Parts: sequence; structure tokens; C-alpha cells
Amino acid sequence: MAMCRAGLLGSRLPHPFRILCRQMSTEPRVAVDRLRQSGLLRTQGLIGGKWIDAYDGKTIPVHNPATGDVIANVPFMGRNEAINAISSAHETFTSWSKLTANERSKRLRKWYDLIISHKEDLALLITLEQGKPLKESLGEVNYGASFIEFFAEEAKRIYGDIIPPTIDDRRLLVLKQPVGVVGAITPWNFPLAMITRKVGPALASGCTAVVKPSEYTPLTALAAAELALQAGISPGALNIVFGNAPDIGDSLLESTKVRKITFTGSTAVGKKLMAGSASTVKKISLELGGNAPCIVFDDADLDVAVKGTLAAKFRNSGQTCVCANRILVQEGIYDKFASAFAKAVQALEVGNGLIETTVQGPLINEAALEKVESLVKDATGKGADVLVGGRRHSLGRTFYEPTVLGNVNNEMLISSQEVFGPVARLLRFKTEEEAIQIANDTNAGLAAYIFTRSMPRSWRVSEALEYGLVGVNEGLISTEVAPFGGFKQSGLGREGSKYGIDEYLEIKYVCLGNLKEV
Ligand code: NAP
Repeated sequence: MAMCRAGLLGSRLPHPFRILCRQMSTEPRVAVDRLRQSGLLRTQGLIGGKWIDAYDGKTIPVHNPATGDVIANVPFMGRNEAINAISSAHETFTSWSKLTANERSKRLRKWYDLIISHKEDLALLITLEQGKPLKESLGEVNYGASFIEFFAEEAKRIYGDIIPPTIDDRRLLVLKQPVGVVGAITPWNFPLAMITRKVGPALASGCTAVVKPSEYTPLTALAAAELALQAGISPGALNIVFGNAPDIGDSLLESTKVRKITFTGSTAVGKKLMAGSASTVKKISLELGGNAPCIVFDDADLDVAVKGTLAAKFRNSGQTCVCANRILVQEGIYDKFASAFAKAVQALEVGNGLIETTVQGPLINEAALEKVESLVKDATGKGADVLVGGRRHSLGRTFYEPTVLGNVNNEMLISSQEVFGPVARLLRFKTEEEAIQIANDTNAGLAAYIFTRSMPRSWRVSEALEYGLVGVNEGLISTEVAPFGGFKQSGLGREGSKYGIDEYLEIKYVCLGNLKEV
């Protein structure tokens, strides 16, 4: 039990926050009041630095998935608001892109400092609207903020090149310039980090942005935008609209002012955006769905493998794109691993994320719960063993029991679909070659994990896996300093690291000719 908590949660919450959480978990209004007082409970969209309602007055509620309570009503925006947000970003591009890199860097750094100084409030907001445990929300705030800090520094290092000329009275230069207005569409599972991973490098390079967060989690995006304004990010450089997703998406796609689309979400929507970007030939980056294999070899350290797999599978109740979706266990360690892993999963405490001991929150909505339920039903109907869980949780709403299924095979839908919930499935394999073949037999290619004590095998298997990220003996590998992105249908482009800023830059070649004449 101690290991499970440590694996997923790390250290305990800070003391004053623990006391506050106790009050808030029994009286959710206390949490909302606290946010209101902090000025971070923003409930309007942001266009040109002004907080705006939907032009037709329509609103939608944002629910707390743990309780069903309405946290706030927010505007349900559409095409007209999106078009104005694009115009605002387009007008601001002229001035924002002309600031010195040093000046943009300073403002981004200030934004980072403000996010960190409000991290408890932001974490609270994430838990309220998304459901993950507070400790994980605090982790997301630190992770999300780290992209702003990293790209604030990177802004000053957008270097070009001087190329040795082929004709002696010429000089050949390469400049890197911001792409222009960026349309950023993000999902609900990381309401802050999926935005900062895009907006950080966009603003650092001189681009301006129109962000469309998920309708399930707009409040964190709005709170972050409030802090951006306080930090001196120019009004209009960062605009936030949400509501009718297809209408807002189409407005971004159709506009010739929008020069780049960056999207994190499902592969199905990503493909639509890719097709829609063709008519105006936009630059695109896509961070799409995963189907991560987690391979446990006979020579793995059992404790390291259980702890790493637990973290890779059950973080955010299994609702991450890098979640271990297929756990492949070699036959020699299968029984020992299955028993230790099932015991660890059994001990995961499920509940409202505001309760300090919770490590598994609710699923985001009823549709997510029904998907998990139907995949488990299909698997058990075709012969999978339920080692732990396998049902809706007695807490009701969208809580599902942390589940482990054994003896899963390829006939079952769960072995090919992204489950996006707290269900781990174990498959047996015999040889390294077989594990690699099963792992690569998918259209996805985002994250993969391997557990082995052999260094040669670590190299061999890491190189053979057709995935953008590989964790060796480690289940939590994302960091702002390393490139994040997928092979195959898991996406295009990379976020984070020195590679992440290239997605927001155009390369311009300048030839200075006739130097002897002019
Ligand atoms: P989703 O349904 O694709 O939604 C993602 C975003 O797209 C939301 O803001 C959504 O808006 C918007 N959207 C939906 N339909 C649209 C349309 N026709 N035009 C424009 N925008 C549209 O995905 P999700 O269920 O929120 O997120 C889960 C998926 O994201 C999983 O597959 C997961 O693997 C993937 N994901 C990938 C990464 C990565 O880095 N590769 C990271 C996190 C998640 P509304 O919510 O307002 O409808």
C-alpha cells in the first residue's frame, strides 16, 4: 500500500493545504469561494484582452465529475466569437512578434512565476473540473508551468545560420521567424499542461494564439489566461474561446489568418483537422491517441516493474494518452507479476480528488464510463479473468473500480482500443521477438515502456519499438526538456524541448547578392 501511494502520489500534500482539503472535501462550496476570492474563477471567454460572454448569451455548465455539482456556467461560443478571436490574434501579431526576444522572455517568466505562486488554487480548479487527485493536480501545475519557464528561456535562443556561399560576392543567411496566428485545440485530461505545452513555445517565438480548451475543463484555461494578462502578455496575444467545437474548429481551419493548427486529442478529430487544414495549407502539429505497450521481461526487478506499471497505467485514473494500455508479461514472471500487481491495484483508494488519501478519481463523464464498461464486458465475455475490480464503483457517478484483467488475447476489443480508464490488461508472451511484434502491431506509436535488468536488451528493444517515447524501468517519463510526440497515427511534430519551438517557426533563406557592386 505504501508503495502504491508513493508510486502514484510521491510525497504528501503541504500541511496548510491538507487542512484546507479536509474542509473542502466535506464542503465543496469552500473550494469555489476560495477560488472566487483569489480572482481566478473566470467564467467568460477572452478576446482581445476583454472577458466576453457568448454573443447570443448561451451558456453551458461546468460540472464537478466527483459530485455532479455545477461549478460555474460559462459561455457557449461559436463561429462569430472564434472569428473575432482570430482577428484579435492577427492584429496583435504585428506588435507581439516585434518585441525583442528578451522582452517576450521576461513576460513569459513572469507568467511562470504567477502560475507557481498560485499553484494551490490552480490545482484546486483542476481537481474540481477534471476530477484527478489534488496531489496529481499539483504535479500538473508544476509540469504545465515548466513549459512556460523552459520556453521563456528558449525564446532567446532562436538562432539562424550563415551558410558558406557558392559564389564569392554573395552571403547566405537563414532566419527563423514566427509562423503567425496559432489555433490550439486541447483536451480535458490535462487542462493546464496541454495548453502551456503549445502556448509557451508559440508566444516565445513571437506567434499569437487562439486557444480552444475542452468544454469539460475551460476554467483552468481561463485562470491561466488571467495570470497571463497579469504577467504582461499583451491583450490579444492569447485568446480563449470554447463551446461549439466543430464551429470553432472550422473557423480556425477556414481562416487564412491562422497559419498553424496545434491539436491534442483523439485520433479521429485529429484526422479531421489534418484534412481541414489542407485547403489553406496550414502547418500542423498533432498529439493524438496512444495504445502503449508495457513489456515486463522475465529478468525485470519485480518491485520496479510493479511500481512503474502502476504509475504508467493508473495516473489520472487511466485517462492519459501515454497510459500503459497493453501490459505484456513474459511467461516466466507472469504469475508473480500478476499477483503483486493485482495486490497493488486492489489497494488504490478511490474517491473525490479533494480527499487527501484519494489516488483514483472519477472518470470525466458517463460516456467514458460506458466505454470502459463495454470493453470489460466484451473481454470477460471472451474469456478474460478479472483479477481485481471489473465493475462500477459503489461510490456511484462515474467512479469505476481499478481493474486488472488477466489472460487477455487479440480477439478482445480491449487489446486494440485505447481504454482511457482504470483497467489494466495482462497478456502473456514467450520471446523478446514476440513481444516486439505484438507491441508494434498497432496504428498508434506514442509511448512504450519496458522493464528489464539487461542493458543490451534495453537498447535492442528501445530501438525496435515504433514509438516516440520509450520508458526503460520507469513509468513516468514526460518532462519539458525532452521531446514528446508520436510515430504513426499518434501524431505529427514534437512538443517540449528544443525541438518543440521549431513547430512555431518558419525558416527563411535570404541571399545577399552582388556585394561588390552595390
Ligand atoms: P477529443 O474528443 O478529440 O477532444 C479534444 C479537443 O478537440 C476538445 O477541445 C474538443 O472539444 C475538440 N473537438 C472535438 N471535436 C472537434 C471538431 N470537430 N473540431 C474541432 N475541435 C473539436 O479528445 P478527448 O476525448 O478530449 O481527449 C482524449 C484523447 O486525447 C485520447 O485519445 C488521448 O489519447 C488523446 N490525448 C493525446 C495526447 C498526446 O499528447 N498525444 C495528450 C492527451 C490526450 P470539446 O471537448 O469541447 O468537445
